[in-house]
Amino acid sequence: MKPNKLIFLVIVSVFWACQNAHQEPKENNASIQKSIKDKVSIETEKKQHDWSYEGETGPSHWSELEENSFCNGNFQSPVNIVKYKRDKRLKPIDFHYSKETILHDVVNNGHTIQYDFEPGDYVVFEEESFQLKQFHFHEPAEHTIDGVRYPMAIHLVHQNETGAFLVMEILVKEGKSSKPFDFLESFLPIANGETKLVNQAFDMNLNLPKNKGYFTYVGSLTTPPCTEGVRWIIFKESITVSLEQVELLKYLMPIQNFRNEQPIHGRVILQTSF
Ligand SMILES: [Zn+2]
Repeated sequence: MKPNKLIFLVIVSVFWACQNAHQEPKENNASIQKSIKDKVSIETEKKQHDWSYEGETGPSHWSELEENSFCNGNFQSPVNIVKYKRDKRLKPIDFHYSKETILHDVVNNGHTIQYDFEPGDYVVFEEESFQLKQFHFHEPAEHTIDGVRYPMAIHLVHQNETGAFLVMEILVKEGKSSKPFDFLESFLPIANGETKLVNQAFDMNLNLPKNKGYFTYVGSLTTPPCTEGVRWIIFKESITVSLEQVELLKYLMPIQNFRNEQPIHGRVILQTSF
């Protein structure tokens, strides 16, 4: 190679390298900016679609916010339990709640405070097994009985092998303080979006009323996506917790996290004879 050709090649390579050196950061900046933009727009979208209990994201807008939700369906929950039939064929629920079952964690998901169980506890209802997955609180209660709304309720969410839901509502009123509540509240406060590990055994039997008589009907989840075909069990007898225990949860939870009464649309509510 002639020296002047070599010099030419060196100049071309240096020029090429310089061009690339100038271009690369430009490309990087652009791609970083794009990824930030995407992230922000995803988060904004998420925020826009997040439901709540008031205003433009409140219950009357849930069906618009959640595409493919059932919130506009005909067989929704909660309902006012005002017309009901006594049915002698309704048997007691077979509870298999053990004091050894591990409560895994507690989460404040912005809609409620929820305690998640490890597998172990289950109930048998009409010869079908449903695993207890989690329980959470509503303040005030969601189902009303003869128009009466209790100050608080616990929802015990169960699922069978095919994913079908059985949810129990335990109505809570102010009265004697509850030891299991002291234990549960010892993990609070918990910030919105935070999860705390519990990893301790908890006996769910301690939160059940003495008399296990109940109302039952088929409805939906009371939060989006408002899935229908949910077997509801609402205990007739309430449990008590102290005013301070109610007030603490009220202070920590999203305000008034209940959905209003939904039309019954011909559904029949049955009650046990015990
Ligand atoms: Zn609930």
